[in-house]
This record gives sequence, structure tokens and C-alpha cells, in this order.
Amino acid sequence: MELEKYSFGVGDRFGHQGRAQLNALIKARQKGSDIVPVWNKSHREHTIIGTCPCDVRTEADAAVKELNWTGPYHVDADHINMSNVDEFIEHSDFFTLDVANYIGRGSSQDDQKRFRDAALKYVGMLNIPDIQEQFTITEEDIDRIGSKFLFAAKEAGCIYRHIEQAKGKDNFITEVSMDESDRPQSPVELFFILLMIAEEKIPAQTIAPKFTGRFNKGVDYVGDVAQFEKEFNQDIAVINFAVKEFALPENLKLSVHSGSDKFSIYGPINKALKRFDAGVHIKTAGTTWLEELIGLAQAGGNGLEIVKAIYSESLTHFDELCIPYATVIDIDKSKLPSSDEIEKWDGETFAAGLRHDQTCSSYNPDLRQLLHVGYKIAARMGDRYLDALQRYEETIAQNVTGNIYQQHILPVFG
Ligand SMILES: [Zn+2]
Repeated sequence: MELEKYSFGVGDRFGHQGRAQLNALIKARQKGSDIVPVWNKSHREHTIIGTCPCDVRTEADAAVKELNWTGPYHVDADHINMSNVDEFIEHSDFFTLDVANYIGRGSSQDDQKRFRDAALKYVGMLNIPDIQEQFTITEEDIDRIGSKFLFAAKEAGCIYRHIEQAKGKDNFITEVSMDESDRPQSPVELFFILLMIAEEKIPAQTIAPKFTGRFNKGVDYVGDVAQFEKEFNQDIAVINFAVKEFALPENLKLSVHSGSDKFSIYGPINKALKRFDAGVHIKTAGTTWLEELIGLAQAGGNGLEIVKAIYSESLTHFDELCIPYATVIDIDKSKLPSSDEIEKWDGETFAAGLRHDQTCSSYNPDLRQLLHVGYKIAARMGDRYLDALQRYEETIAQNVTGNIYQQHILPVFG
């Protein structure tokens, strides 16, 4: 199974926006951009919300059927590992093997030696086509990179083979992700990681490194955009080179786990894709959930009441919600409005505080980040929340579709 050149990962916490999401891709298609939707949901999200991998498959199939989408689409078992892959196997055809937690663990001397032997030919000056800079690779570099990433690559191999055994070769798409680690991987590290992946015979079609800068949940990129641009271009050049050097799948491409809304790097990504005629997979996580809240707020009445209740509860449960996401959020508690304050807000005021429009003076990134991790509260509301999604579907869907198309697809692929 081959992943198409452009693909877009849509996460949908509560599984109600499949059609609204697909409508954004239909819009893109009508404007001449063929982008394949990939519904992704991680084990963590399933656990918090109380859904199972089969629900995502049902949602995707239903949306595709109802809207007569004739193109390819996929269901991504997002950020899985050996401990939870089994529950996804039947329902997914895209697997994101998350091995970030295995970075830095030592592998056996035999394994190290085998990697070393394969990598030694790159010691000296390493010239990669389309990268101006020359890299000097020493034996120490090889050993350092080996001891840092080899164990993780081998773990990816284990998970891959486990899935392969169950589903059969070529019946699914494999992504290897290392993005949820504390340090970015340099283009040179990426090159050797790809060598390890090839040695493990993983037919990876996408690779998600951790890029330089902070990818906080639901807010814009924080970091040096010029540095990101340089590395992103180099990463694409590294992939093109590695595909030939290591005989990896021809369509191997970068996967950007955006954590949603990395608007300031979308321009550089767009430019790099054009420069190299490269493909990309963009994974957005919780944008849709926040658009649900915006839609509910705008709908007013009961919808607005629910959003206010979720916010108040999120304030009360601040630590519980934020601790699991500590590395990917930066909330200034002093800038969070109190429950009393938001009680006075009307729907538009709430929507303006939440909507990711950096030109709007009411936009509050702290409020946005808290609500981004606050989906657990909505999950606890159960039917009260789900019924509201149905009742205010139209307003919500407009926000979901418009956001994906205008804010994400156009800047990246337009
Ligand atoms: Zn990720």
C-alpha cells in the first residue's frame, strides 16, 4: 500500500467531525490539490475519551461513503508501540511507530558493530546533493549517533515486523516517529537514522523527526523560523539522498507532527515542497476539538453554557490536565481569565478569545492551550457534550471545514 504524495492527518477527539473534515479535502480537490485524508488517533486519546480504534475506522468509512469521496483515505494508529499496537491492527492501515521513548537506550555490542560497519563508509566529508554545506563525519559521530538512536530503530523494527505478521507485507503504511523527544534530530542524525531503518528493513513511507523549536499544542511555532527552514530543506535533501543510498521506498517523505496550527512555518514548508517537488504528511492533532468549542460558543445558548462549563472545570483541574502535556504546553496561569470573568462573555467574545487569530487583540493563547488539553472534561460530560455536537452541528462544521481548508491546507499546499 502506497501513501500518496500529499496527505493530511486529521485528528478528531470525539469522532463526530469526519464529514466536516473531509469537506475541507473535497474543497482542496475542487481547487486542484489532491490531498489524501488520514484519520489519526493515538492510544492516549482513545484512553482519555473512552473510544476504541474501531470507532475511527467507522467514522472514516461513514464520511467517505456519505460524501462520495472516491480517492484514497487512511486510518492511522497514531503513536503506537508494542504495548498497544494489537488493538489497532484490524482497524488501521497506517501505523505511526513511536520510538521516541527508546532514544538514548544502549543496544548490544553486536548491534552497534553492525551499524558501525554499515555507516563507516560515510566517515570523512559527506556531500548531500542540494545541501550546500559539507558535513564532516567522524567515527565518534557514528558511535554517538549509534548509541543514541540504534535501540529506537531496532524497536521500530520489532513493531513493524509484529504488524507485518498480522496484516501481511504491503498491506499497510509505516511511519516512524521520534518527534516526542526532548531534543531535535539534526539532518545528519536523520541520515543515519534512515540507514538504521533501512537495515531493519522497515519500508517507512513517512518519518517524523523532532524539528528544531517548540511545537506547543494548538498554538503557533515558537523558535527560529529561519533555522527551521534551513533544516527542513536539508531534511528533504537527506531523505532524497537516503532513498537512493539505502534503497528505501521512493515515496518516503517527512511527516510534520504539528501539534496543530504551526502557521509561521507553513510558508517555509510550502516553499520547500515546491523547491524539491517533495511530498509531505501534515498531522494536526486537536484543531478540530477546538473548532467544536468555537462553534458551540458561537451557537450561544446551551452551546455557550457547555463551553463555559468546560473552561471552568479545566481551571479547577488545571494540574491534572496539564501535567501529561507538560513538555508541549506553555501556559501563563496569570493570563487565564477567571470563571467569573468568562461568565459575562457572550459567544463571540469567547470565540474570539479561543480562535487562533494572532491579529485579533482578544485572542488568548493561554486560554486556548488550556482548552486544548481540556478535552478530558468534555469526555467526562458524556452525552451532554455529544448531544450538543449534534444539536449545533451546522455551526461547528463550518468552523471545522473552514479552519482546515483556510488555515492549514491553503498555506501548506496552495
Ligand atoms: Zn507526534
